[in-house]
Order: sequence, then C-alpha cells, then structure tokens
Amino acid sequence: MSIDQALLKRADNKCELCSSQEALSTYDVPPITLKSLDKSLLVCSNCLNQIENPDQMVSSHWRCLSDRMWSQTAAVQVMSWRLLKRIKGEGWPEELLEMLYLEDDVKKWAVDDAMIRAIDEPTLDINGVAFAAGDSAIMTKDIFITGANFTAKRGAVIKNISLTDNSRQIEGNLNGTRIVLGGRTLKKV
Ligand SMILES: [Zn+2]
Repeated sequence: MSIDQALLKRADNKCELCSSQEALSTYDVPPITLKSLDKSLLVCSNCLNQIENPDQMVSSHWRCLSDRMWSQTAAVQVMSWRLLKRIKGEGWPEELLEMLYLEDDVKKWAVDDAMIRAIDEPTLDINGVAFAAGDSAIMTKDIFITGANFTAKRGAVIKNISLTDNSRQIEGNLNGTRIVLGGRTLKKV
C-alpha cells in the first residue's frame, strides 16, 4: 500500500483536522527528512490554506480541534498544538493547550517549527544569539545539574542542542547525558 493509500484509509477519506471531505490533499508535517505515513496528514483545502497562510487563520474554524486534539495520531496532535498556539490569544485555544498532553517525543516534534519559534520568544545565548536545533554551545560558568547529579563545568561543550517549549531553556548532550540548561548560561559556537 502506498503512503497516500494508507493515509486515506487512516483518515477515513476525511480531513484529519476538520472532517471535511472537500479537496483533500496530503500535508507533510514539518520538519520532514523523509516522507512517511507518520508525518503525513490528510487535510482539506480550507485547513491547508490556513496552515500555510497564518495571516488567514479563522479561529472559529479551529473549534474542531477541541475534539481532534485527542486523536491517537501524532501528526494530528502536533498540528493541533501548533494551530492552537497560533491563535492562543483568543482565550479558548489557550485552555485547550493546557489540557493537551503530548508525549515527550511528540512535544519535541511540535515545537520544532519555524512558525512556532516566530510566535514564541527565541531562545538566546549569553550574547543574545538565537539557538537553532542541532547547535553546539560552550558553558560560560559551572552549573550543578540537579537531575543528573554532576556539575557542567565552564568551557564544556554542549552538543546537539534542541529547543524546548520554554524559550529560556535548551536541551543538549554533555558526556552522553541529555540535560536542560538556561540558554543565557551558554555561548553558541
Ligand atoms: Zn479541514
């Protein structure tokens, strides 16, 4: 079965966000390195247009997400989170966001989105330089890492940084351990 066939089956031939059956197409939920069913979403032209044009968001259209965000499909959860985030100023989307629990790996995928980063504050290093996923950085002071029970020393290199949903913090690897650090304690390299 091709990805498109499998997707139509999963989606039951309906938009996976608003259940419309009109002008359906596949949307690859970014970031995409390889096309896959897991990263595909079947959407109608109305949803697709609003996804691709944030300035054309009609928030009432997205009331459907109060139901759809409970989907078992990670791609649906990710897009529900991202779309609610875009319109959270309306009040009710913010309440839904508070209820929407995402598994760690799904949350990572959800926040890894240029549009979301543009809405949220960028995560900055000690010099005010914005972090991006995959960056490395140097510790600018000693910090005791409570959860890991060791001290990250000044001058140590933190690798493979990823952004978190807290704009003041990043995650990165030190000595094979994944730790969370304040962006301002680091200098991007
Ligand atoms: Zn739709």
